[in-house]
Amino acid sequence: MKLINKFKSPNFNTRRYKKISFIIIHYTALESCEKAISYLCDKKNKVSCHFLISQNGDVYNLVNLQYRAWHAGMSFWNDQHDLNSISIGIELDYSFNKLNDKYSKKMINSLIILIKKIKNKYKINNLNVLGHSDIAPFRKKDPGSKFPWNKLQNENISFKPKIIKNIDHNIIIRWFKKNKITSLKKISLFIFGYIGYDTFGLNNYRKSYRQLLLAYQSHYLQKNVSGKIDKVTFEFLINHFLNKLLTKS
Ligand SMILES: [Zn+2]
Repeated sequence: MKLINKFKSPNFNTRRYKKISFIIIHYTALESCEKAISYLCDKKNKVSCHFLISQNGDVYNLVNLQYRAWHAGMSFWNDQHDLNSISIGIELDYSFNKLNDKYSKKMINSLIILIKKIKNKYKINNLNVLGHSDIAPFRKKDPGSKFPWNKLQNENISFKPKIIKNIDHNIIIRWFKKNKITSLKKISLFIFGYIGYDTFGLNNYRKSYRQLLLAYQSHYLQKNVSGKIDKVTFEFLINHFLNKLLTKS
């Protein structure tokens, strides 16, 4: 992993909180790393990140970690609203342009090394290594359903729900129903909220619910990105819920 300190972004300010407890992963949606550097370092764009990783695995440090880089925008996770203040933002040189439309091996290897260093330094929980679409599901799609979350999970640097056997899901569903959480949609929204997603005020908006499902599936069910609360998604969610219930974090 080559760390490059040659380029710096003026787009940062003071963190509101001292403690850094999240890592947020993005893609640039720009056609090259050079373009991303100039975009992220241009004062008038008012955006930045702490690190940018190129297709060949070079890591650019654009904002000093002690400062609040501007990568998350309006965001929410588990009662936290200002994710920029408590996170480190990593951009990946990726777009849907043919020149950089793959998550290259070198890029992901550097990302893994970088996340390990950051996690170690700031004692960041696996649950808090997230994508931009997790913390802003109604606005953002990055890093998308092609991002190899499984590689991060296999390195044990990002959370993966374990399959919990011998628990009858019907017991959980009955418990929800007893508590007047009756439809699949209501149950899933309850679980999304419990996991950390922003679910406030979207009960009646089908579009937002779909975006929430897409964000979740793009992260955890990449072979099943349907935007629907289908059987696979619902079963996986119940299992995820049990994981959170049974794990102290
Ligand atoms: Zn982003």
